[in-house]
Amino acid sequence: MNKNIFILTHGDTGAFETGSVPFEVRIPLNGHGKKAVKKKAEVYPGLLVADHSNAKIGDMHSGITGVVTEVTEKHVVIKAQELAPAADGEDPKPTGVEPVALAGLEGDELRAALKGLGVDIRPLIRRCDLLVINALNPEPGITYAESMLVHAKSTVNAGLEMLKRLSPASRTVVALPSASTAAFDGTDIAFINPQYPNSLDELVVASITGKESMKGVNVVDLHTLYNLGAVAESGMPLTHTVVCVEGRNIVAPIGTPVGALLKEASIEVADGDSVIMGGPMRGEATGDLNKGIAKDTKAVFVVPAGVFQPVSDHACFSCGACVQHCPSRILPNMISRYVEFNEIDFCRQENIGACIECGLCTFYCPARRPMLQFIRLGKHKIALEEAQVAACALQVDE
Ligand code: SF4
Ligand code: SF4
Repeated sequence: MNKNIFILTHGDTGAFETGSVPFEVRIPLNGHGKKAVKKKAEVYPGLLVADHSNAKIGDMHSGITGVVTEVTEKHVVIKAQELAPAADGEDPKPTGVEPVALAGLEGDELRAALKGLGVDIRPLIRRCDLLVINALNPEPGITYAESMLVHAKSTVNAGLEMLKRLSPASRTVVALPSASTAAFDGTDIAFINPQYPNSLDELVVASITGKESMKGVNVVDLHTLYNLGAVAESGMPLTHTVVCVEGRNIVAPIGTPVGALLKEASIEVADGDSVIMGGPMRGEATGDLNKGIAKDTKAVFVVPAGVFQPVSDHACFSCGACVQHCPSRILPNMISRYVEFNEIDFCRQENIGACIECGLCTFYCPARRPMLQFIRLGKHKIALEEAQVAACALQVDE
């Protein structure tokens, strides 16, 4: 197998492109119960569209000017259009929001302000002694990291400074690909061999600490840091993010339909092609080109029909390739079978929780079994079972 396909460094591919305004945005919601806009409402960049009752989950804002055409539990859809001017005698219509002064805020006030500006606080404030910034490209083919460290370094630095204000960690380490020349004043650097799956958080931490344990460690990736930095620098709501579209890094409004983003990058999608949101190893296929990108969408790829044989629930023929390549040293062949036949207790015995979801078992499986999907399903079933047990225990206590 050619190891170059797993290389995680691509050099500086230039400053990020600014995408054109899409014809509409479908801003994805994730339990944002309180909608701040109704159908037909006129909106403008930075306007709050949905609020989350959880103080650690960021609110959602419009990145474009336009009119709301749909409000559901899953998304707010805004059609891009210029707004009619105010009628004679009326106040002029607002075209944007005022920045929030974050510099003087601390503690709960700072967290609340960031949440209100669209930042998900939960992954930033986890209890830890060591904070690791994972600044590698997350998967092969994703190219934004090195360019971000050159052309958006001030945004990254602003994110890091803000993160240090939020995190309880006593030490911060930035993990960079070996040979990187990026520097961070007053912050330790660790170099990681830029070969997938070394970019996965668990392996980055193992490389830094020498331990196969995440205890006392919190990892924040560069994409999240960039989003945080954009808010910290401007005091404005998070309305845009950068997405690697087949190697081109485009800054686009959150909610931009995947199809519009592919068009922006001049990529045609033909019948039978697969569109992947996320990286090629761990991403998820979508059949809906209208689906809007989320704030954590890092990449979009198209796999042309016929390049790979589609995965299906073919039988395992015990070749052992998945076991040989599993960085967690578990038995994906057995675990996938146990999930397939709903033997969830055996999944626990085989330590399914140790899987770091690298996707290498799927990649190497000559039977084209959907290994990662089986494992994610198994973990999901275990989580459901545990939630049910916890709910029962609560009732007994009462
Ligand atoms: S995805 Fe597969 S290869 Fe990767 S850690 Fe999990 S079981 Fe192992
Ligand atoms: S790689 Fe596929 S066929 Fe081979 S042992 Fe693993 S699951 Fe079975």
